[in-house]
Amino acid sequence: MAAKLDQGPPNYKEMLPPVILENYGKWKYHEIPRPGVLKHVSETGATMHSVRVASPRLVSIDFVRDLCVIADEYCEGFLRFTTRNNVEFLVGDEAKLNPLLAELEAKGYCVGGTGASISNIIHTQGWVHCHTPATDASGVVKAVMDDLYEYFDSMKLPAKLKMGLACCLNMCGSTHCSDIGIVGVHRTPPRIDHDKIRKGTEIPSLVASCPTGAIRPDPKNKSVIVNNDKCMYCGNCYTMSPAMEIYDAKNDGIAILIGGKVSNARSAPSFSRMVIPFLPNNAPRWPETTKAIRDIIELWIANAHKGERLGEWVERIGWERFFSLSGLPFSDMLIDDYIFARETFRTGAAFKY
Ligand code: SF4
Ligand code: SF4
Repeated sequence: MAAKLDQGPPNYKEMLPPVILENYGKWKYHEIPRPGVLKHVSETGATMHSVRVASPRLVSIDFVRDLCVIADEYCEGFLRFTTRNNVEFLVGDEAKLNPLLAELEAKGYCVGGTGASISNIIHTQGWVHCHTPATDASGVVKAVMDDLYEYFDSMKLPAKLKMGLACCLNMCGSTHCSDIGIVGVHRTPPRIDHDKIRKGTEIPSLVASCPTGAIRPDPKNKSVIVNNDKCMYCGNCYTMSPAMEIYDAKNDGIAILIGGKVSNARSAPSFSRMVIPFLPNNAPRWPETTKAIRDIIELWIANAHKGERLGEWVERIGWERFFSLSGLPFSDMLIDDYIFARETFRTGAAFKY
């Protein structure tokens, strides 16, 4: 029999718990009775609790089976994953809520990630599976979340704090629009393997892949030349051709960006901006990165108004004030020098000494 193709994903409505199906589009309000637990109330009077549990995103089938056993016991077999890769157990029968929470605690699951908390870090493949990373994803995320766990299972921040990690400037995920973005960066130019270029690289596409025009064709050698003075180590040429290897164990590391957001609440969505150009890849616990992130978060907690996202706080006090309060060194590395840089320069006389 021919395989069934192009059938798309299964209809999500086939996997909804009865209480959600019956009250679809009728939910009136929700509240957060405790960190990690949301209570949804419908116009019909029906209620449902969702219990949010952390997941490392990269999980084994055994982990998924364990989740299914819990969902069978307390949630009529239903659960869902959130857009930040947390797991939500969907509890239609309120009598099962406390037994579920007790079981989760006994089994070591972390309940949290709601309201003014640090929820899961959106992240990427890192050294586990990608060929272009400048840092790891799972390792850094584990180190950072271990350090900041107190903010996952509580709601004591000024506002929610979203973090994203991307292991290269492709920025798969959300680092460009997160309160805190952790991004893998290179600091050395690509090493050209001319033989490999001759054997299989489409040279015009390789030349066109460089955002600064640092690569030009070398027809005599049937290869390319890189102007190292123009290269800013983005690694895009290596994505285009395996002949442009760029990873460098000693010089690769992490840049920290802050102040991005996606929601339109209170202020417009914004991009995150670099505040730390380089931290070393100090595996397996990345102490410099975890400390830098904690310091920024604690400064925000100590100074922000209630409800103020990290970027909103920095915009209110001014970036120069952020740098003086944080003690982070401001260097020319942080001044935009790409095509549209002018928009980021100060064009007014208002600033604080
Ligand atoms: S961010 Fe870069 S290195 Fe990480 S998964 Fe995406 S393409 Fe690969
Ligand atoms: S690393 Fe980026 S800037 Fe440098 S040559 Fe390759 S594409 Fe161009």
